[in-house]
Amino acid sequence: MHAPKILLVEDEQAIADTLIYALGSEGFSVRHLLLGREACPAHRDSPFDLIILDVGLPDTTGFEVLKALRALTGESAEVSDVPVIFLTARSEEIDRILGLELGADDYVVKPFSPREVAARARAILRRDARFRNSSNSAASNAVWRHDPESLRIAFHGQAVELTRYEYLLLALLLSAPGRVFTREQIMNRVWANAPETADRSIDTHIKTLRAKLRAIDALSEPILTHRGTGYSIAA
Ligand code: CA
Repeated sequence: MHAPKILLVEDEQAIADTLIYALGSEGFSVRHLLLGREACPAHRDSPFDLIILDVGLPDTTGFEVLKALRALTGESAEVSDVPVIFLTARSEEIDRILGLELGADDYVVKPFSPREVAARARAILRRDARFRNSSNSAASNAVWRHDPESLRIAFHGQAVELTRYEYLLLALLLSAPGRVFTREQIMNRVWANAPETADRSIDTHIKTLRAKLRAIDALSEPILTHRGTGYSIAA
């Protein structure tokens, strides 16, 4: 297992130094850039496992950098869907971060504790690894095809257009067909690192997922409700 590679884009050297130190002592290998426009080419040349992005950069904003990262084409989804943590100096920016459809995985407000940032980075990487590993053993059969590398799930041969949390929820259920996941397990595993105001309604996500699956096959009802317990996917 290689040391997870983190790209840090932060123009204040003093802040960068404390982060590089904290991340380094957690065993991460860190590359530091001062300018936003250097992030995409660097990530394309040699993809990182996680990117920590300052919002206020001298040449651009962290938002623009994230947009450019998500738009990377001709690369695997793993490259363009790299997890991102924003560093923000102003609490007003939080609303924008949370409103981003591009999906940041987390954010921290300055001043922050570098160890806190390192802990969040570790949590996000652990979550990603868990989904990749658990998905590898998932059944790919005539009904379902789950490609954890590209973060895509197909139902009856047809790709399902999923939001981030719908994907994580469906991937979790598919990791063990027939197993009932309690609401608490779903919350802990799907929304483990979600920002405070993320839509955490399991029922709403199940409802939209069912509608999307029904649009592909109107007759099947693969997601089962276990009253008072949770949900499973039909084995
Ligand atoms: Ca800055």
